[in-house]
Amino acid sequence: MSEQPLFERLALIGVGLIGSSIAHAARAQGVVGTIVATARTAATRQRVTELGFADQVVDTNAAAVAGADLVIVCIPVGQSGPVAQEIAPHLKHGAILSDVGSVKTAVRDAMAPHVPPGVHLIPAHPVAGTEHSGPDAGIAELYVNRWCILTPPAGADAAAVERLAAFWRALGANVEKMSAEHHDLVLAMTSHLPHLIAYTIVGTAEDLSEVTRSEVLKFSAGGFRDFTRIAASDPTMWRDVFLANKDAVLEMLGTFSEDLSQLTRAIRRGDGNALFDHFTRTRAIRRGIVEIGQDSAAPDFGRPHPELPVEPLPRPYALSDDS
Ligand code: NAP
Repeated sequence: MSEQPLFERLALIGVGLIGSSIAHAARAQGVVGTIVATARTAATRQRVTELGFADQVVDTNAAAVAGADLVIVCIPVGQSGPVAQEIAPHLKHGAILSDVGSVKTAVRDAMAPHVPPGVHLIPAHPVAGTEHSGPDAGIAELYVNRWCILTPPAGADAAAVERLAAFWRALGANVEKMSAEHHDLVLAMTSHLPHLIAYTIVGTAEDLSEVTRSEVLKFSAGGFRDFTRIAASDPTMWRDVFLANKDAVLEMLGTFSEDLSQLTRAIRRGDGNALFDHFTRTRAIRRGIVEIGQDSAAPDFGRPHPELPVEPLPRPYALSDDS
C-alpha cells in the first residue's frame, strides 16, 4: 500500500462493472483515502453496502461528490449530461471530475457546460471490460495491463491530468492521452463496430428458420460462441454508445461494408487468391495483438489472482509518472 494516497476522497457515481472494479483496485493499491459510492437505485446501493468495497454508500449523487477530490462518473454515457448538471453545485473547488464512458466527444460536450470554474474536467476511458454488469461483476485486476485513454479538453490543467494518469497507473493501467475526437474514431473501429457486428450476427442466427436454435447453440464452437459473448454486453450501455458515437461508427461501417462487398465478390467469383491474401493479412494482425499482450478480454491474471488477496503492485509501478 502506498504511504500517502493520491486522493483523499474518491466519489464513484455508478458502481457497476467499471465503478466497482475501480473501487476494488483503488482500495487494493491504497491510492485513495476514502471511497464514497452511489448508484441510481436503492437496490444497487444496498448491494454495494453488502459487498463492502466502498467506505460509504450514499443515496444521492450530490451527497457523493461533496468534499471529494476525485469524482469518477461510471454510468451509461447518455446520463452524463444530466448527472453533471445535478452534481455541479456540489463539486469541491480543485476537484478532478472524470468519467469512464466508452465515447468521449459526446460526454465532454454534455458535461463541460455544467462544470464550475476551478473544477478540472478530464474525461477518461479504461479500455477494459467484460460482458458482465453490476456491482457483483467488479474485480480489482480489471485494469491491469489494459489501456486507459485520457482525453483532456484543450487548456486542461497539466498537473490535474498527471494526477489522474498516476491514479490509473496505480490501478495497473497503461495511460495514453489523445483528443476526444480521435478516441471516438479509433474506438469506433476497435470496439464499437465489432460489437455492432456481433449484435447483428447473433440476431441473424436467431432469425434463421432453417437452423434450429438448438443447432446454433450445439455447434457454436465454430465461431458463433465468441460473438455471443460480445453480444451479451449490456443493452443500455451499447444503445448509448451507438447513439453518442453515431458519426464515427457510420464512417467505419461504410468502410466495413465496402470490404465486405469485396469479400462477397471474391466468394461469388471463386477468387481463392483474394480470399487467401485477405486472411493472411488478418492473421498477421491477430499475431500482432498477441505480441503486445492485448489478446484476451479477460483481466491480466498474470498479476494477482482474483481469488487470492491482492498484493499491491511494486511502488515504482504504482506511482510512476508518464514521462
Ligand atoms: P453497469 O455495470 O450497468 O453499471 C452502471 C451503473 O451506473 C449502475 O451502478 C447504475 O445504477 C449507475 N447509474 C446509472 N444511471 C445513473 C444515474 N443517473 N445516477 C447514478 N448512477 C447511475 O455499467 P458499466 O459496464 O460499469 O459501464 C459504465 C460506463 O463504463 C459506461 O459509460 C460504459 O460506456 C463504460 N465502459 C464500460 C465497459 C464495459 O465493458 N462494460 C468498458 C469500458 C467503459 P443502478 O444499478 O442503480 O441502475
